Amino acid sequence: MIIAIDGPAASGKSTSAKLLAEKLKFLYLDTGAMYRCIALAVIENQIDIKNKQSLKDFIDNFKLEMRTINGVSVFLINGENVSKKIRSSSVSKKVSEISAIPSIRKYMVSMQRSFAKNTKCVVEGRDIGTVVFPKATIKFFMIASVEVRAKRRQLELRRLGEEITLKDLQKDIEARDKYDSERSHSPLKKAFDAIEIDTTNMTLRDQLSVMVKNVNLKINRK
Ligand code: C5P
Repeated sequence: MIIAIDGPAASGKSTSAKLLAEKLKFLYLDTGAMYRCIALAVIENQIDIKNKQSLKDFIDNFKLEMRTINGVSVFLINGENVSKKIRSSSVSKKVSEISAIPSIRKYMVSMQRSFAKNTKCVVEGRDIGTVVFPKATIKFFMIASVEVRAKRRQLELRRLGEEITLKDLQKDIEARDKYDSERSHSPLKKAFDAIEIDTTNMTLRDQLSVMVKNVNLKINRK
């Protein structure tokens, strides 16, 4: 059983997805973190993504490991835990360009499908309800104002020791939204059967309660 959660950057997906998975005792898959891992590896290895052969060699050799340690998702590239590094603003700036590459999406989507196969899983991203799991049992699409999203990102980065102005963050988020929504391959868009939740003025508790209510309704109807 798959619960798909999509939406733009910092719309409230990750925290509520994690809490929902915990509450329902489901697995949790953060597909944005997967794209961030490959973006980090492209940056660190200075891969020329315009060169088809070097991109292919890079993807063929890229090994991403995902583990859950004490209930927290941990990502390892060649044995190195990169869970913190992938949240940096340098990765955020580059990730949309890299995730728009069709061969990278193909690799990631197949990994996502095999991770969630025959499990109960909350999967969050941009194309989960539309492309990765179009038959998901329930789909949510989270939105929030760009001002609130920039504030959330600022707090997240501050916890990692990075200080960025709200103005710059707002610009980054808008650029990422545009890139993610306008790319030709699996763009960010609401699935026709997704439930939209505007989290602008909602607390986490409110978000979780709306989601749980909808999941219960759906399961009881089945
Ligand atoms: O969710 P998060 O903001 O960490 O995602 C980082 C980036 O990864 C997004 O801006 C988007 O470019 C890409 N992404 C994607 N498809 C997904 C999840 C994330 O293209 N399913």
